[in-house]
Amino acid sequence: MLASYGVFPPLILLTFFIFITWLTYKAASLKLVLLGLSAIILSITLTEAWHKTNRQQPETQRYNISERGHWLRYFFPGIMGDLIYMTTLYISSDNRPSLPHLEQNSSIVGKLPLKEKNVILIIGESAFSGHHSTYGYTLHNTTPYMKGLSDEGELCVVPTVHSGANMTRLAVPMLLSFYEPTEQQRLYNEKNLIELARDNGYQTSWISSQEGTGEYARPYGYLSEYSDFIVRQDYHASENHVDWHDESLLPIVEKRFSTPSPYNFFIIHLTGSHSRYEDDVTKEDIQALPKANAYDKSLHRTDRILHQIIDLADKHLKDYVLLYLSDHGEIVDGPVKGHSIQYGGKDQYKIPFYIKSNTDHYCQQAESMRNSRGQYSSIMTKFLILEMLGYKIKEDTLKSYYNHDEVLHSDGVVYDYDHLPHR
Ligand SMILES: [Zn+2]
Repeated sequence: MLASYGVFPPLILLTFFIFITWLTYKAASLKLVLLGLSAIILSITLTEAWHKTNRQQPETQRYNISERGHWLRYFFPGIMGDLIYMTTLYISSDNRPSLPHLEQNSSIVGKLPLKEKNVILIIGESAFSGHHSTYGYTLHNTTPYMKGLSDEGELCVVPTVHSGANMTRLAVPMLLSFYEPTEQQRLYNEKNLIELARDNGYQTSWISSQEGTGEYARPYGYLSEYSDFIVRQDYHASENHVDWHDESLLPIVEKRFSTPSPYNFFIIHLTGSHSRYEDDVTKEDIQALPKANAYDKSLHRTDRILHQIIDLADKHLKDYVLLYLSDHGEIVDGPVKGHSIQYGGKDQYKIPFYIKSNTDHYCQQAESMRNSRGQYSSIMTKFLILEMLGYKIKEDTLKSYYNHDEVLHSDGVVYDYDHLPHR
């Protein structure tokens, strides 16, 4: 209000409020019975509404306090709901500034003699590998460019990959820090990959069409703020002409790829196929796949964005390693669609993972990181990236992941990937 109307209208309202309070105080006497009754009614309704925040969408179970505060506003609109939401945001443990860490994860045992000049990590959104042509989907050619590269042997398509979580807030930090389903404190206690990259002489850029604040985004917004250069949908967006459209990132990507710095770590975080899928589709996708549903068209669009980013990398960087993987999968073939679905099963975890590099070394490394069930969990990606950034990882650490496969589900509980909750 202060920002949009200046100081006078709020002042008038405040004076009016004080006047009414004073009048009430003068005219009425305190009746304990009425006060008690009001308190009881209010606390019953509030408790009921708090429980309802979990029932709002029967398929999801909310556990994050600020996320529940967000839903509570639907039941308590106005000042009451706003106050509760603001309080939950304030007390949420996600809400903290990006201060430098001193502690380094014990898996790092030293530096390697060589490191990659340019590392590009592209994080997708809600991309389900089961609908990518590169992964054998035949109904529509959803990923023509990546399929072409893979057919020519210029792209490594890593099969059987799943994410470490089924929602963005939990999944993205697992790619860029030592945060894992069973090691959640590491996000805030240890150096993340951006800090480690900077320590080893890399210029770091975070280019994102997603936000970095609020109950859904803060954990990766927190990470983004360790970068030398940041642009997000909610951070330096207007001067860089960036919004939620992934196309709006391309001019910034080109500018950052043209940097003279010898070592660079680029993180590009896309909006990809986040619902509504219809919004993620452009004219080209409708022309290319007229019979496909909106979700498949949105994958086609991301394929084109990847094509454009790779063209820019070829033009400006030449020597680079590029990784693309989605934060989590998406349920698109069942009656309930989406992700962070409590009883939604594995599709919301199955993700595409592409590696583009001059050698097949990283592809082989990824293969060697599979667990005993043949799965590659996306939490292993940090070790791949650390090797690119010139860090030597303890052999025993990598082996320690072999015999188990946990994921952090949207209800905040850690499950074995083969024993996700079901009805
Ligand atoms: Zn996501």
